[in-house]
Amino acid sequence: MINIRLSELIVMVMLIAVCLVCAFWIWTLWRERRREIHRRRIAIQCRICNCTYAIPKKAPAVTQCPSCGTHNQRGALDPI
Ligand SMILES: [Zn+2]
Repeated sequence: MINIRLSELIVMVMLIAVCLVCAFWIWTLWRERRREIHRRRIAIQCRICNCTYAIPKKAPAVTQCPSCGTHNQRGALDPI
């Protein structure tokens, strides 16, 4: 059996908890970055009225703004 003192056990549990919190934090940052990249890939911002709208992946390269009717090109949003 492993002999361990209470103080060592508390330190080990705290280290494990800190590692879990850091891992969750990094995973959340990674997930948010992927979502933002996906949002920017499917979104178009109108160059006239500044309206942002989503388009399906199979849509043509040039789409019409639902607000003002101006033709906009895919990929006009700057990457992060
Ligand atoms: Zn517009």
